Amino acid sequence: MNDEQLLRYSRHILLPQIGIEGQEKLLAARALVIGAGGLGSPIALYLASAGVGVLTLCDDEAVDLTNLQRQIVHRTEAVGRKKVESARATLAAINPEVKVVGLAERVDGKRIEALARDHDVVIDGSDNFATRHAVNRACVKLRKPLVSGAAVRFDGQVAVFDLRDADSACYACLFPESGESEDVRCAVMGVFAPVTGIVGSIQAAETLKLLTGTGETLAGRLLLLDALAMQVRTIKLAKDPGCAVCAPR
Ligand SMILES: [Zn+2]
Repeated sequence: MNDEQLLRYSRHILLPQIGIEGQEKLLAARALVIGAGGLGSPIALYLASAGVGVLTLCDDEAVDLTNLQRQIVHRTEAVGRKKVESARATLAAINPEVKVVGLAERVDGKRIEALARDHDVVIDGSDNFATRHAVNRACVKLRKPLVSGAAVRFDGQVAVFDLRDADSACYACLFPESGESEDVRCAVMGVFAPVTGIVGSIQAAETLKLLTGTGETLAGRLLLLDALAMQVRTIKLAKDPGCAVCAPR
């Protein structure tokens, strides 16, 4: 690390759990972020400011005025521009050292798999079950750690599926692909702005812990946030031995 990096990351370096060694791991890390919206904003902002070496952002949408209430990586002047371009501009202004790759495309299973292969961790900030399941399948197949999050109304949830561990549950153990789960989109249901910030920030924290090998992640637990009562609880998550995605055939 050069002098400027030692200064920029000094508050991380001061933490004995991270230190120079941990910061160097972050600088060498590659993170794949699915979605540059309400969750993707705080995820990308913290991973970039913390110096994660390569950030790949996938989102095919353009910034809409209705996004700005919570999607804090975007600015009013970016309305109409692709979200990944808007995010890249904001992130470059915060930390020009980070390489941000913006993919303005709707990624399907094959594409997610090809991208995930090339990254150390996958962070899911998408807003629909089809994408979440495609991301999960790729991570199960490639044994990549997956940091999953969701936010709608006043409710949030976060889980880490550390699929490097053969005993880890996967997203489909929790929400089977054949389940009746219906997408509850912010566009229809509404969402309390800071809930996306809290959930995305927790996802960023878990990602930095995974990349540095620091502390205990949420692996094996599901964190549930009720922002209306401001209550947080975690429940244990077990691998489903009959899971259609991760159970051995
Ligand atoms: Zn599973």
